[in-house]
Amino acid sequence: MKAVVYNGPREVMVKEVPDAKIERPTDVLVKITSTNICGSDLHMYEGRTSFEKGRVFGHENLGQVVEVGNAVDKIKVGDWVAIPFNVSCGHCANCERQLTAFCLTMNPGMAGAAFGFADMGPYPGGQAEYLRVPYGDFNCLRLPEDAQEKQADYVMLSDIFPTGWHATELACVQPGESVVIYGAGPVGLMAALSATVKGARQVMVVDRHPDRLKLVESLGAIPIDDSKGSPVEQVMALTNGIGADRGCECVGYQSHDPQGHEHPNMTLNDLVKSVKFTGRIGVVGVFVPKDPNSPDPLGKKGEITFDYGLFWNKGQSMGTGQCNVKTYNRQLRDMIHAGRVKPSFIVSHKITLDKAPDAYKHFDARDSGWTKVILQPVAVA
Ligand SMILES: [Zn+2]
Ligand SMILES: [Zn+2]
Repeated sequence: MKAVVYNGPREVMVKEVPDAKIERPTDVLVKITSTNICGSDLHMYEGRTSFEKGRVFGHENLGQVVEVGNAVDKIKVGDWVAIPFNVSCGHCANCERQLTAFCLTMNPGMAGAAFGFADMGPYPGGQAEYLRVPYGDFNCLRLPEDAQEKQADYVMLSDIFPTGWHATELACVQPGESVVIYGAGPVGLMAALSATVKGARQVMVVDRHPDRLKLVESLGAIPIDDSKGSPVEQVMALTNGIGADRGCECVGYQSHDPQGHEHPNMTLNDLVKSVKFTGRIGVVGVFVPKDPNSPDPLGKKGEITFDYGLFWNKGQSMGTGQCNVKTYNRQLRDMIHAGRVKPSFIVSHKITLDKAPDAYKHFDARDSGWTKVILQPVAVA
């Protein structure tokens, strides 16, 4: 089968790899019709991680089931399914508590496994014609009859929509509150959508790319351009000098200033400053325990200088970590089905698998107009 394969820093290739197949009786095999390029693929693409040459990318996957192992009861051939980026077992102590991003059995020695991801187990990704889904009954989310027609919406259930929702859960966003979100990439935009759905009265989103800020505006949220002045001052001006009730970090350790200099601590410290006393911050942007290729000596060790004194002084709290997709994807699916939300509003490109190398280049360069790319490995009949 054809797949998007890592071939060293800033190089992916579409090439033939061994076919994905049923390996255990609990596996489900899915023909992939939609699979997204994600901002976290770029950490691996840029060569910043231990992602091995030859591995297949892709953790945001949707498709149609073509084969099931003989211990699979619920999922049937022909079902349309959205597949969480988390690979989880369903029966460990963490999965039982819905903490599927921290599954204890799928990546022994660590908590948490994912498709096509550095340091998260051996699982090949779904930027390929087929994907093997372990514990398919547990991991596959079945989609309703409009699955095929709305797949650009439903494919966002695999990661970014639940992850954006998770940012607002970690920040405990309540109806009527004000929220500031750092980052208007796909996850930040999904966090803004989620905060809006939850009834936040004021949603501010910090970024500097005009195409992204336009999407912020399309949600009825307030775009804040940090290339035009301090984002903290802009948030303060919009909140009577008090700061936002809640803050979401949707950028991660490669945050950089408008001049392009990387500061892994920048968004976190800006959040501490732009969230009110006793406010809460949710962090879903990726931070890593080690970053040997970081330009910053602390960063190499996965450490940052954090305004802990101000954070403590303001009585703030913070929730962190990857999203447990299964905690939310069912309800979010039903919102899409009911027409309440349309997360595909961020999609700029739908292209075939062989165009992936070019798409990675554009997305990595944050080229204008490349807000979210869906790859379509198998043409939809
Ligand atoms: Zn992703
Ligand atoms: Zn588990």
